[in-house]
Amino acid sequence: MRKNIIAGNWKMNGSKTSAAELLDGIKTKATDLNHVTWIVFPSYPFLAQAEQLLANSNISWGAQNLSDKQEGAYTGEVSASMIQEFGCKYVLVGHSERRALYSETDEVVAAKFKTAGDAGLIPILCVGETLEERQQELTEKVVTRQLQAVLNLDQGVKRLANAVIAYEPVWAIGTGLTATPEQAQEVHAYIRNLIKELDATIASELSILYGGSMKPNNAQDLLAMSDIDGGLIGGASLDASAFIEIGKSCNN
Ligand code: PEP
Repeated sequence: MRKNIIAGNWKMNGSKTSAAELLDGIKTKATDLNHVTWIVFPSYPFLAQAEQLLANSNISWGAQNLSDKQEGAYTGEVSASMIQEFGCKYVLVGHSERRALYSETDEVVAAKFKTAGDAGLIPILCVGETLEERQQELTEKVVTRQLQAVLNLDQGVKRLANAVIAYEPVWAIGTGLTATPEQAQEVHAYIRNLIKELDATIASELSILYGGSMKPNNAQDLLAMSDIDGGLIGGASLDASAFIEIGKSCNN
């Protein structure tokens, strides 16, 4: 049985005070809600607070990015072992903002995915097409290319046995536009089938999250789709009540 996951990507938001309030609010509201795996992704400086405030709770935490390098002269970078020291189990890899704003290519994303996996972190690999690509009917091609970079790594599809995928159409991120449940399901099923051709067990156990303006008012219909195993939530994850409401509607 694959896991249902509700993950909050805080992006570059918050302060010491607001992060503590949000962590506390989520922790309190998620008490006894164990039907999903809860994960939060605060900015690096707040990981120490996550470790402290979420200890002995049912919420996991992770980092929004990592370096593909182990250590050394890489100013401004943060390594896998550093985030693990703060209790991170998960890490986002290849978020569309990293790809678009920081020029992360498919190969860079794959290198980060490998570094995370080798360190024992669970990478959440983000894939998705831009509006232009969707209008040109290139969605499947783009998603295949993004996945292929990871499948080309040593171990091939086996690396997906300890990973999560998030399908995040770029045109739906932070825009208020959401893929319809049918549009999202179509891509999720496409991704699962692609993996199934390589390994049926890994495909059936792989959690594939949807991300893109998921809110309490649209989550239920998206999460009801058979190949949508949870959500990666940006804006709404900054509000503890909205984040938990979304998780409550995850019952498939
Ligand atoms: C995201 O950043 O991964 C995301 C899905 O953002 P939002 O929910 O704000 O669209």
